[in-house]
Amino acid sequence: MRCSNCSEPANIAHGNYQFKESGLENVILCGIELIKCDHCGNEDPIIPGMDDLFRTIALALVTKPYGLAGEEVRFLRKYMGLTGDGFSRLLHIDKTTLSKWENNDDPVGTQSDLAIRMLTMSRDNSLLNKLDSVIREHFEKIQFRAHCVRIHRRGAKKNRYVPERPSIEIKTSDLTYAYA
Ligand SMILES: [Zn+2]
Repeated sequence: MRCSNCSEPANIAHGNYQFKESGLENVILCGIELIKCDHCGNEDPIIPGMDDLFRTIALALVTKPYGLAGEEVRFLRKYMGLTGDGFSRLLHIDKTTLSKWENNDDPVGTQSDLAIRMLTMSRDNSLLNKLDSVIREHFEKIQFRAHCVRIHRRGAKKNRYVPERPSIEIKTSDLTYAYA
C-alpha cells in the first residue's frame, strides 16, 4: 500500500474521517479504514459503497432536527441529480433565491425546507419507503429558530443568519447515523 500523496509505503488503520468530499463540513465517518502515511501525514479513507453512504447522509439531512443549512440544500439537490435551474422550477422559486439559500445569505423558509426534504425522499425508492415514518417521527420536532449574529458589512451592522450544524456521525460498519 502506497501513499497517494508522496508514494511512500503507507499503513491501513481504523479511525474517524471528516468527509469533506461530501461538500459538508460536519460529516464524520466513524470506524472507517484509512490508508495512513507516517511520512507525510496524508490520510485517505477507504469508502465502501459510495451510493449507500450518500443515501445515509441524505437520510440524516431529511431527519435533521434543525432547519437545513445552505450547503445541505445543495447536497440534497445534487443527490437528486438536479441542476439549479431544474430545482428552482420544481420549487417555484427563482435562481437567485436558490443561490442565496445555498450560500447561506438567506435562511430557507420553513415550508420550502420541508418541501425539499419530501422531494428528496420522493426521488429515491429506499428513502420513499421511509417517507411516512420520517414525517411522523421527525417533522414536528424540527426547530426552525433562526440563529443570528451581528456582522459588519460595507460599514453597516447587519444580522446574518447562521444555520445549526450539528455533526453527523456515521458508523461505517452498518451505516447508522447519529447527530452529535
Ligand atoms: Zn505520504
